[in-house]
Amino acid sequence: MTDAPSLSFENVAVQYAGRTTRALDGVSFVAQPGRITAIVGPNGSGKSTLVRALLRLTPLVSGTIRVGNDALPTLTPRELARRVAVVPQREEPTLPMQVDDFVALGRHVHRAAFGALRVEDRRAIDHALARAGMPAAAQRRTDQLSGGEWQRVRIARSLAQDSPVLVLDEPTSFLDIAHEMAVFELLDELARDGRTVLLVSHQLNLVARFASHMVLLHAGQVAAAGSPLDVMQGALLERVYDWPLVITRDPAVGALSLLPLRRRGGSS
Ligand code: ADP
Repeated sequence: MTDAPSLSFENVAVQYAGRTTRALDGVSFVAQPGRITAIVGPNGSGKSTLVRALLRLTPLVSGTIRVGNDALPTLTPRELARRVAVVPQREEPTLPMQVDDFVALGRHVHRAAFGALRVEDRRAIDHALARAGMPAAAQRRTDQLSGGEWQRVRIARSLAQDSPVLVLDEPTSFLDIAHEMAVFELLDELARDGRTVLLVSHQLNLVARFASHMVLLHAGQVAAAGSPLDVMQGALLERVYDWPLVITRDPAVGALSLLPLRRRGGSS
C-alpha cells in the first residue's frame, strides 16, 4: 500500500453538554503513515473523545481534524469511510447476525447500495477474518461469541473495509496474552505495509514496544508526545497516572517497561 494519508488533529477542543470543563482542550498531533501512533492516558483523559470526534459523534468547539489535507467536514460519510476504518471501544451486537454478514458491513463502502457480494468482497471478508485470528468463524453468530472473539470479529470488519487509515480504541481489551500479542503484531504489519495506524491503548508496555509515536493525554490536554523514550518517563507518568511507579528496561527484550509500585509497602 502506498500513499496512505496522515490523520491530523489540530488544536482540537470538545466540550460535552452540561460539563464545565473541556473533554479535549487544544489537542494537536499527527498520526503519520507507516507507523503506529498510540494515544495513552488515564481514564477520563479524553482518549475515546478523540475517536468520537473523528467519527463526528461529537462536535468540535474549535480546531480541525484532517485526513491528509482534507478537513473532516468536507468529506462525505462514504469518503471518510473509504479512507478511515474505526474500531470503537464499545459496540454491542444488537441484531444477532452471521459473522461473515457482520464483517461484510466493512465492504459496504466499496459496493453499490444493496448490491450482492462480489467474489472480491467474499475474498476480503475471509482474508480479514483470518488476519484477525478468526479463520473458522464465518458461519457463527455474533451473539454466540465470547468477548475476545467479538473483539476480533470487529477488528476483522475494519480490515475488510480496507481503508488506508485504521483507528482502534482499546482493541485488545478482553483478549488473552496470545491474542493480544497477535493484534499488536498485526497492527505492526499493517503499519509496515504503509497504513496509518492510530491506537488507543492502556497497555503502556506493549505500546512502548510497538508504537513509534506516543501521545500522552492528561485532563484533555497533551501532557507529552514523542518516541516511547520521550514519553516513558517515570516522573511524568507518576504525575499523570497519580500512582507511584518505576520505568525499567526489560532484561529479556530490552523494551522500556512500566512497573506500578505498591502504595502500602508490600515487597513485590
Ligand atoms: P477516556 O477515553 O480517556 O477514558 P473520555 O474521552 O471517555 O476519556 O472522557 C473524557 C471526559 O469527558 C471525561 O471527563 C468524561 O467524564 C467526559 N465524557 C465522556 N463522554 C461524555 C458524554 N457523553 N457526556 C458528558 N461527558 C462525557
